[in-house]
Amino acid sequence: MTPNAQMIDLRIARVKNSSALSFDAVFPERDESWEAQLPVWRPGRYERANFAQYIISMAGVSENGSEIKLEKSDLHRWIIPAGIHRLRWVFHADILNAGSTFVSDDLQYVNPVNCFIYDRLNHDLGYKITLSDIPKNWDIATALPTFNGCLIANDMQHAMDSPWMASPKLWHETYQVEDSDKMVNFHVWTYGDAPPQQKKFMADHIAFSKNQISAFGTFPTSDYHFLYLLPSDTEVRHGVEHEDSTVIALGPSAKIQTQHGYNELVGIASHELYHAWNVKRIRPSEWMPYNFEDACPSRLGYIAEGVTTYMGDLFLFESGCIDLKGWSTRMEVLLNRHLNNPGRHNLSVAESSYDTWLDGYRLGVKGRKGSIYVEGAVLAFICDTRIMKVTDGTSSLSTAMKILWERFGKARKGIVADAYWDVLAEVAGERLDDLREKYADGTEDTWDDLVKCMKANGLALTKSLDEKGHVKATLHPA
Ligand SMILES: [Zn+2]
Repeated sequence: MTPNAQMIDLRIARVKNSSALSFDAVFPERDESWEAQLPVWRPGRYERANFAQYIISMAGVSENGSEIKLEKSDLHRWIIPAGIHRLRWVFHADILNAGSTFVSDDLQYVNPVNCFIYDRLNHDLGYKITLSDIPKNWDIATALPTFNGCLIANDMQHAMDSPWMASPKLWHETYQVEDSDKMVNFHVWTYGDAPPQQKKFMADHIAFSKNQISAFGTFPTSDYHFLYLLPSDTEVRHGVEHEDSTVIALGPSAKIQTQHGYNELVGIASHELYHAWNVKRIRPSEWMPYNFEDACPSRLGYIAEGVTTYMGDLFLFESGCIDLKGWSTRMEVLLNRHLNNPGRHNLSVAESSYDTWLDGYRLGVKGRKGSIYVEGAVLAFICDTRIMKVTDGTSSLSTAMKILWERFGKARKGIVADAYWDVLAEVAGERLDDLREKYADGTEDTWDDLVKCMKANGLALTKSLDEKGHVKATLHPA
């Protein structure tokens, strides 16, 4: 990829000694007035994020170099008068998590979806990005290609889905996995702490990558980057999926260095890699392509996050990264969250998915809603077990996901609920509409089916009440 005239020439530098980044962008010339847009949300978190609250200043730059004040036409949109094609803005960057933008003496970490302005009516414009003040000896971890020292994004969607971290002290290792038609290069980068149990850490990455690729047949890209933020003194735990990369944040050191921290890290990594297919390519139609101007609710979060949560853990087990006891422990945690949330009987997981945009990432009103991660994963497990049962173990949910990848993901065609359930039925040889009605669109209790499904997998599931009155699920070999 080489830069061309239809690119935004963007220069980024730290505002001296501060927690802010300055942006200087030259857009292709045009005669009429236009609108500059900042995203209002980021993929991976399906709620409004209001990134404009971090824009400290926004100005147009005229031909003679003087700055002019810009009026807004919306909370996240500026009107650019005719003749102005250069913009300058300052973004406050002091939040460090897997979806934020942060600058300090030894780190420039940028999620373009937080802070990049785009031409509202021309999403084809790419970006030629110059990191003006990054010393030559710093490493830059990113999936973005480079040209003459610049990062290149092909268009707006590509830019918004391509974070980077630049630092003089990144830990970096690579591995390769062959899919059915190419060699895939994986990069593991960490900022902050070095990865815990480094040898096992890399061996586990290789194992779950191989198994996931083998299940799907092909990997969507030939280069993939794990960007780990492991801050020694910041409390953080989550990951965000991107087109050809992921950012995973875990801290502080005391947590990273424990066995529990290690398990969390590898668990998130397997989940995020699964997203390279499921969500980044196999994507609900409402998000294909992403509309960054507004909320875009979908009822299919139980596929996007539920299937991914269940599969991420299952691949850890199938790859030998965890044993059956390890898988059961992770499942017990999930089941405890499921069983102790009365909200799953009030709003279905499909309705809860639609409503993530209201309060999906907060506790919200007690008993109001379910979770696309938890209730979605429970549903995925029940569907997987049903498919394996009725096909005598010759097919599974994974078989269905491979078909969805081949039919929809590769072609970048968005999926709707019927398409998903039709493919599950095709693989099973019978409809799973009873499960869809009860547990995707309905709010019925899953307990009896859960016990049966665990039994079919050779596990006994029981429940008890602890001293606080919470339901406690226990799994043990039957
Ligand atoms: Zn996820």
